[in-house]
Amino acid sequence: MSEIFPKVALLGIGLIGSSMAHAMRRSGVAGHIAGYSHRLETLEAAQEVGFADSLSIDPAECVRDADLVVLATPVGTFGSLAEKIAEHLKPGAILSDVGSVKTAVIRDVAPHVPEGVHFIPAHPIAGTEQSGPKAGFAELFDGRWCILTPPPGTDAAAVAKLQSFWEALGSQVEVMEAARHDLVLAITSHVPHLIAYNIVGTADDLETVTQSDVIKFSAGGFRDFTRIAASDPTMWRDVFLNNREAVLEVLGRFSEDLSALQRAIRWGDGDALFTLFARTRAIRRSIVDAGQDTAAPNFGRGAKADEKKDQ
Ligand code: NAP
Repeated sequence: MSEIFPKVALLGIGLIGSSMAHAMRRSGVAGHIAGYSHRLETLEAAQEVGFADSLSIDPAECVRDADLVVLATPVGTFGSLAEKIAEHLKPGAILSDVGSVKTAVIRDVAPHVPEGVHFIPAHPIAGTEQSGPKAGFAELFDGRWCILTPPPGTDAAAVAKLQSFWEALGSQVEVMEAARHDLVLAITSHVPHLIAYNIVGTADDLETVTQSDVIKFSAGGFRDFTRIAASDPTMWRDVFLNNREAVLEVLGRFSEDLSALQRAIRWGDGDALFTLFARTRAIRRSIVDAGQDTAAPNFGRGAKADEKKDQ
């Protein structure tokens, strides 16, 4: 694979930033990989792993002469970071991000983007519950979707370039409107995370069942929720604060459907329960058929690459 960007600046070198660096190294799409973080400990950890050519605690220095700049910190920090780097961006550069929400990112970042810089928001639908610069690995994006949400009027050649970049990192790319992205992700990722956080919290609060029982018998289903509920608290706080409308819309539907299930159980309506469970089993099969999860029993627990989960 040949070089696409002579210099790529990663603002944020946690799970996603460091995985991008590993995948860039594997594919050779970046000449120089520069990394920024706001804490010395994180920079030292990144230095130890060695996925970047240069590291800095100063975002302006990190983006200097970069052809691609990627915001990879929690979504709530994007606006102030964009403001700090704006006047240091190279004319003709692409400014992108990996944030899990898109409408709010455009709202916060677009006002700071200087003339001549192409702003193309992106979201790789891949992750694990781990975080930090030591959690990254080159295969994270392999076979996973990356959604680009260029605002209307974005330069088509720049979009094509960013698409080639993500394909080189192993992703399949789809372009869609930011609002549609936010609704799709609310149902496929954000509300499932909220449900996991809630059920694990409820189990923790139950006074009639001891904590040791919950942990001992967790293989009954609970432990699969705990994996999602172990996801980074800062990142997920920012996701819910910044995708409020779409999450509340999906949550409204979810609550109605939950009430219907409650009623079916109360009235012994086995047909209603069976019909729903048969329908959902078919959805699981289509996810496996689409190559978005393993068909191996027990979610293929064991191999690192199989521990990827969509976000
Ligand atoms: P992460 O592993 O926690 O890394 C976040 C990075 O941002 C770290 O380098 C962290 O440094 C830095 N950071 C935190 N607060 C900051 C601040 N106030 N100012 C500057 N830097 C700050 O998180 P991640 O999973 O890579 O997520 C990064 C982005 O990717 C988020 O926007 C998230 O929505 C998106 N995303 C995540 C996933 C996923 O599954 N994890 C999937 C797709 C997209 P310190 O550790 O030193 O604080």
